[in-house]
Amino acid sequence: MSTQAKDKCPLCMETMDLTDKQLKPCKCGYEICLWCWHHIMEMDQKDECGGRCPGCRSIYNKDRILGTSISNQILKELCADKSNLQHEQMKLQKQKSATNQLRVAEEPIDHPDNVRVIQRKLVYIIGMPSEFASEKILRQKNFLGQYGKIENIIIDNIGANQQIPDSGRVYVTYSREEEAVLCIEAVNGFILDGRPLKATFGVTRYCHIWLSNKVCQKPNCSYVHQKALPEDVCTKDDVGVFCARYKLLLAF
Ligand SMILES: [Zn+2]
Ligand SMILES: [Zn+2]
Ligand SMILES: [Zn+2]
Repeated sequence: MSTQAKDKCPLCMETMDLTDKQLKPCKCGYEICLWCWHHIMEMDQKDECGGRCPGCRSIYNKDRILGTSISNQILKELCADKSNLQHEQMKLQKQKSATNQLRVAEEPIDHPDNVRVIQRKLVYIIGMPSEFASEKILRQKNFLGQYGKIENIIIDNIGANQQIPDSGRVYVTYSREEEAVLCIEAVNGFILDGRPLKATFGVTRYCHIWLSNKVCQKPNCSYVHQKALPEDVCTKDDVGVFCARYKLLLAF
């Protein structure tokens, strides 16, 4: 038996439960949890060099492990149940965005630099007075928090000369489109501190990396990596018109 602490997986430091302990993946006695084992075996499928025991570097006998301990299906379910779910989800998301990103080559986009894509969960507010422009205040339940679950807030150009038309910019990402719509309807035209607020859907553009036919690796890239729906696309010059028109449509 190696020197590892008895109840914790040496790779992820999670406590090993009974099922983890039944795994006994290697003759050398080096134990890891199901999730980490699963992970090693999956990595191995990509480079095909054989999943190896981190303790003694000998190649895991996958069939023996799956045969003696638990069936593959149970193993998969267990892996999905574990608190490491997040890892799995991140991986899935990565795969998903990679497949979405593949579409670029088939349908080239005209004048991509001119194109703006409406973000239906993103609200763009102009004219926020500086005394309200803190994430804590904006998130409050009696302020922007009342319209739904806020996933992100970006505050920009606050405290600049308030005569400048677009000072006090706030970008609020809600978890759903309906929440963003509620927020826009309530906030647009609202007089705060003697000044009217303006609120529309936010817009973004196509990611340059994606446009050049490569897969964008930036984890939080806020640009668009798939061909947008026609109704979500406008040019950079008519964003204002578009948002006004869209709001009219919503009113019916
Ligand atoms: Zn582990
Ligand atoms: Zn070993
Ligand atoms: Zn990108």
